[in-house]
Amino acid sequence: MKIAFFSTKSYDRDFFNLLNKHNEIEYFETNLTVATANLLNGHKAVCVFVNDSLSREVIHTLKNKGVELISLRCAGFNNVDMAAAHEIGIKVVRVPAYSPQAVAEHALALIMTLCRKTHKAYNRVRENNFSLEKLNGFNLFGKTVGVVGTGEIGSAFCKIMLGIGCKVIAYDIMANDELEQRGVKYLPLKEVFQQSDIISLHCPLNEYTKYVIDKNTLAQMKKGVMIINTSRGGLINSRHAIKALKTGHLGYLGLDVYEQEAGLFFQDLSNELIQDDVISRLMTFPNVLITAHQGFFTNEALEEIANITLSNINQFENGIELTNEVKV
Ligand code: NAD
Repeated sequence: MKIAFFSTKSYDRDFFNLLNKHNEIEYFETNLTVATANLLNGHKAVCVFVNDSLSREVIHTLKNKGVELISLRCAGFNNVDMAAAHEIGIKVVRVPAYSPQAVAEHALALIMTLCRKTHKAYNRVRENNFSLEKLNGFNLFGKTVGVVGTGEIGSAFCKIMLGIGCKVIAYDIMANDELEQRGVKYLPLKEVFQQSDIISLHCPLNEYTKYVIDKNTLAQMKKGVMIINTSRGGLINSRHAIKALKTGHLGYLGLDVYEQEAGLFFQDLSNELIQDDVISRLMTFPNVLITAHQGFFTNEALEEIANITLSNINQFENGIELTNEVKV
C-alpha cells in the first residue's frame, strides 16, 4: 500500500525502513494540514503522530485525495475528529500500547529529578561547584502517590511506585482488580487530590478530563504537592499552574506534555524567539522540569510502534478485522 507519513523524524524512518516489507512509504517532515494534504498523490493511508491535527476539514481533504485509512503511530487520538472520520467512512487505527513502561519510567525520572534536584546538581558540578546548599530533597519511601488513570501506563506506574515503598491511591472510571490486590486503593478524585504528596496523570484527554488540574482542583491539594503530567497537555490549565507555583502551593511540576506543544515540541528552536509566554514563564521556575514529549522515546517502544503500525496497515489492506481500530 502507498502510505504518506507525516511529522517524520530520522528515528521514524530508521525503525519503519527496517521493519517495512510490503508498503511503499513516502516520508514527509511537515505536519499534516489542509495545505500539506495536497502532497498526497495516490496514497491510500496517512500515518500521523501526536501533533498532527486531523480536524474535520483535514479529514474531508483526505477523503477527496482518496485516503481510506488514518494510522496513528501513537496511543492518544484526541487530535482526530472521530465523528468526522466516522461520517465520511475513513477508518482510524492506533497503537494502543507499545511500551507502557517507557512512559511510566519517564514519569519516575521526572519525579526523581525534581525531588533530588539532579537537574541542578548536574549543572553545579560541571562548574566545579560541589556545594550541597539548597539541594536537599525528600524520600519517596512512605509518600502518598495519587494516580489518575490506571490503564496500561498508569498501572505500570503504580507498580513502580509500590516497589519504591509509596502508598499508592488512584482514581479511574474503572478500577483494576489486579492493582487493588497489590495494594492500590481507589478513591474519589477529590480525595486523591487531597491526600497525595505526588500526583501523576495517566488518563486520556477528553471533554471530561480537560483541565482536570485547574485553580479549583489545585486548591484541594496539599501545599507543596508535586504534579507530573506525561499524558496530554490539556489536562492542566498551565496559567493556573503558574499562579500556584508563584504562591508555592504547587511545589513541583514535571511536564512531558504541554497544552500548546504543537509548533514547539519535536523541533530545534534554539535559534528562534519563543513567542509562547506561558511555556517561557514555566521554564523560569527552578522546581519545574519540562521534557518535550519523550516519555515514549525508547528503542523498545519505537520498534513496537513500527511493528504494530505496520500490522494495523496490513490488516486494513487484507480486509482482516482491525484489532486496533478507534471507534466513536
Ligand atoms: P489506557 O487507555 O490504557 O488508559 C487510560 C486510563 O484512563 C483507562 O484506565 C481509563 O479508564 C482511564 N480514564 C478514562 N477516563 C478517565 C477519567 N475521566 N478519569 C480518570 N481516568 C480515566 O491509556 P494508556 O496507554 O495508559 O495512556 C494514557 C495516556 O498517556 C494516553 O491517553 C496518552 O495521552 C498518554 N501517552 C503519553 C505518551 C508520552 O510519550 N508522554 C506516550 C503514550 C501515551
